[in-house]
Amino acid sequence: MAKDTWGLCKDCKWWQIEPKAAVENLTLGLCIDEKLQPFLLRVSGNSGCNRFMAGAPARAEGSGAAPPTAEPTR
Ligand code: SF4
Repeated sequence: MAKDTWGLCKDCKWWQIEPKAAVENLTLGLCIDEKLQPFLLRVSGNSGCNRFMAGAPARAEGSGAAPPTAEPTR
């Protein structure tokens, strides 16, 4: 996959964070990308990957827990 699709979780629509969490580098949330979702990948705002899709983060209670307890909202 092309490197130019790589982006930060804090700018990605597949990043799901707690309902009142700030969109910041150290905020932790669940990746709800369809292919990564089965891994319950917990990522910070300044994590990233090439499945990046620009957009606002989703929000759900339990998204920042370890392990995440929220269902993906997508
Ligand atoms: S790991 Fe990749 S797909 Fe998941 S939220 Fe971060 S940038 Fe988006």
